[in-house]
Amino acid sequence: MRWSQYFIPTTKETPKDATAASHVLMLRAGLIRQVAAGMYTYLPLGYRALRKVEQIVREEMDAAGAIELHMPVLQPLSLWEETGRVEAMGDVLLRLAGPEGDWRPNTVLGPTHEEVITDTARAYLKSYKQLPINLYQIQTKFRGEARPKSGVLRTREFLMKDAYSFHDSLECLHKAYKTMYDTYCRIFGRCGLPYVAVEADSGAIGGDVSHEFMVLTPAGEDSVAISESGGYAANLERASAHPAPPQTDEPLPMEEVHTPGVGRVEDVCEFLGTRPEQMIKTLVYDIKALRVVDGKDVEWTGWVVALVRGDHEINEHKLERVVREAFDDEVVLHFELATPDSIEELTGAAVGFAGPQGLVERVDKLIVDRDVTTMRNAATGANKTDYHVRNVNPGRDFPIEGDKVVVADIRMVVEGDLAPNAEHDPLHIRTAIEVGHVFELGTKYSEAMHATYLNRDGKPRPLIMGCYGIGLNRILAAAIESHHDDGGIIWPMSIAPFEVIVIALDPRDETVMQTASRIHDELVNADLDVLFDDRDERAGFKFKDADLIGIPLRVIVGKKSLAGGMVEFCHRRDDEKQKVTPAEVVGLVVKAVGEELAGLGRAQAHDAASVL
Ligand code: ATP
Ligand code: MG
Repeated sequence: MRWSQYFIPTTKETPKDATAASHVLMLRAGLIRQVAAGMYTYLPLGYRALRKVEQIVREEMDAAGAIELHMPVLQPLSLWEETGRVEAMGDVLLRLAGPEGDWRPNTVLGPTHEEVITDTARAYLKSYKQLPINLYQIQTKFRGEARPKSGVLRTREFLMKDAYSFHDSLECLHKAYKTMYDTYCRIFGRCGLPYVAVEADSGAIGGDVSHEFMVLTPAGEDSVAISESGGYAANLERASAHPAPPQTDEPLPMEEVHTPGVGRVEDVCEFLGTRPEQMIKTLVYDIKALRVVDGKDVEWTGWVVALVRGDHEINEHKLERVVREAFDDEVVLHFELATPDSIEELTGAAVGFAGPQGLVERVDKLIVDRDVTTMRNAATGANKTDYHVRNVNPGRDFPIEGDKVVVADIRMVVEGDLAPNAEHDPLHIRTAIEVGHVFELGTKYSEAMHATYLNRDGKPRPLIMGCYGIGLNRILAAAIESHHDDGGIIWPMSIAPFEVIVIALDPRDETVMQTASRIHDELVNADLDVLFDDRDERAGFKFKDADLIGIPLRVIVGKKSLAGGMVEFCHRRDDEKQKVTPAEVVGLVVKAVGEELAGLGRAQAHDAASVL
């Protein structure tokens, strides 16, 4: 491809609103153009890279035995009503608008395709003999993201590879899950991503077992906890730490202390001369739920109180899971931090002075973090405005067992906590981008949509499902986040828009142009993706552009070297120039491309610690 006849609108300007490296570089290198918030045009160079990612994903999915199909972006709202996800998705689910009675208000733009695939499955997968099967597509998704961010990392329209597997047993699902997990390792390895697979929360998708594939970068919106040895890695939403060692001090008598106007943990500590880890934070939540009484739904409201150590923060994801389990046979309609009025009503004190002592009778559940149960002589609010208590002891001054009490891990892990199963393996917290996600869904969708098959005994059973997603655009951005320098992008060979760039330094010189042009043609004949910078521009300008767009290999043809019968060959990575003859250079490039691709192909599942 001759640059002079191609379309690569590079620019020196750094866009004001772009902070993530990938965002800045994708705009500057002329890969993408923002059309509106969260909507991008892929310019030719960006689109070539995206198509290479797509090709790798397709090859690996095919190799894993998955079968490609294509589902529509336009979906009937009724399918989403069947699974109750119209509410669960909220504003993310984009609905078409139109006059009442028209088809449009009953149509959505698919943010994902569980409903559509389950509808297909219930039509065709009728017997255990048709199972297992794994169906996938590479399709555009639409999501009403409130805050599109960081270029193509979070957009309202994006390309996803989504796969859905169907099984007649959990063992079979586990096997497919493992195959997809390994396939994802191969895909991300081939794309040159320094990824890590972490245990994940299943969120609105549902299901039990789930892993996310993460790439560490400050531009990410997720946080992960990775242990120093790499033995443990989890999304912060679900990460857990080794329980704190039990304290052994003798319990002292509880005493009330006047602490006028001192409500925040730090201030209380200073006032009482104690440390946050010796305090108990008492968080009050309002809950509204439906319970069935005599066959009728009865709505009730009440309080849930959660306790964590003063130096710990509540993990709302874990807490919510514990609450849903605790109210297992009820439908939790509303669960949120209580309003000041509600806190005052429960504790009889202003906000900031709540404590667990004496509260259990008045609340619906008391949820005690594991690390609180082993505290001794802690300080906490006195349930009396302007007062705290000292020497509160779990089990003595508030219950840690009984009907209303749940002891669970409900806190956020922090830097330096120990991994859950190791006493000498500290956790590190890092920001990351999620590039892929695998779930064991179970029967959530098949039950809701009555997708059943006949088992070996001829009995109808709901299909057991798994689902597996990859964000293709995020792979591009994550690759750039991981591989760039001050000058621009350094593409991994596998997804580079071109594998090699031939730069003619003196384009007005006939021999230079002839030689460069011949090298270009020979490289193309060797089946490589070649960009030929034939533009009539200064050398410095061309080098800057070449650095910016980051083509991995570079052949430089200049008048001076050519006079000595040589051209230069180097890698974008290190810029160490090698002088070789024009006859040699083609073979060298072919070899270098082959070696790099093979190296990426060998990138196996690696140790989580390698990304720290
Ligand atoms: P996130 O937590 O970042 O919003 P998600 O959990 O909603 O992502 P999934 O529903 O698991 O994402 O979608 C599968 C994959 O699609 C993700 O792993 C990610 O790579 C990609 N993806 C999801 N949302 C977006 C988006 N708004 N823009 C670009 N890619 C996305
Ligand atoms: Mg996800």
